[in-house]
Amino acid sequence: MAEELEELWKKLTVTEAEDEDIKLGSKSTRAAKEIGKNCIVMKILTQRTVILEALKKNMRMLWKPSKGMQISEIEEDLFLVEFGDGRDKKKVMEMCPWSYEKQLILMQDFEGELVPKEIKLKWVPFWVQIFNLPLKCMTRESGYEIGSKIGVVLDVDVPEKGVQWGKFLRVRIRLDATTKLIRGKKVSVEGGESRWVFFRYERLPNFCYRCGMLDHGEKDCPERKEVENHGEEERKQYGAWLRGEPGRSSRNDYGRMGEERTPEKSEEQKEPETETLTRVQLRLKENAVVGFEILQEFVVHVLRHVFQPSL
Ligand SMILES: [Zn+2]
Repeated sequence: MAEELEELWKKLTVTEAEDEDIKLGSKSTRAAKEIGKNCIVMKILTQRTVILEALKKNMRMLWKPSKGMQISEIEEDLFLVEFGDGRDKKKVMEMCPWSYEKQLILMQDFEGELVPKEIKLKWVPFWVQIFNLPLKCMTRESGYEIGSKIGVVLDVDVPEKGVQWGKFLRVRIRLDATTKLIRGKKVSVEGGESRWVFFRYERLPNFCYRCGMLDHGEKDCPERKEVENHGEEERKQYGAWLRGEPGRSSRNDYGRMGEERTPEKSEEQKEPETETLTRVQLRLKENAVVGFEILQEFVVHVLRHVFQPSL
């Protein structure tokens, strides 16, 4: 609608009365700028239509904002989220990436200077795990250097000393979500031979296993028809193996002895529940055995008592 009006406007001759520059001062923008601090602009990276009511319901359940939130459609498939509390916004932004119906959500801070249709969303922060690094490269500097080749580095998950031992190095990177996922890069260290380092992305939603784009699934892939004559395996250049199990920040648990910072940890955390269950079951079994033994003794005692006189 806005575009149609703009096209129409170009063809019109402006009258003298219309050709007046209305000056809006800071008073006119104050309220929106103030509320805008608690707002984000958001877009779902999908080729399907997003229903506003369904989106509102889903995001409220997912984010559970402490002071409520409003979602408004400000342009086709572009939404503005207003949080009742700035802390809710901060929390949501820090926990990016999010997904809606398994498709990636792009979001950014409120930009008051722009008309909605001028807002182009494409950046999204991910925790990226870098595998196959030589031990001497498990540093903040290596994280920054490698990470900056695939996006904008926001953070490297290393403690104060700058080194983090582990199976991989975690780097927070703002990626361009409108390009193909990068699976790896060649790295040579201190003039040595090149080797491949591999990337895994934490909280990676749906993406195309055929072409590596995030805005569609395999079924909707435009490259699908082009490669119909090739074998299925040959076509799948991407896969679920690009997903990394969400890790934990080395700084949060740094200093706690006896704890590992590996992705398997989340699996391990499930163990106590199973363990408790097993212990309870064992105790029940033990009780049953003890109970049976008591009953056995009782029966023997009764039998002895009954039959004793006749012996
Ligand atoms: Zn594709």
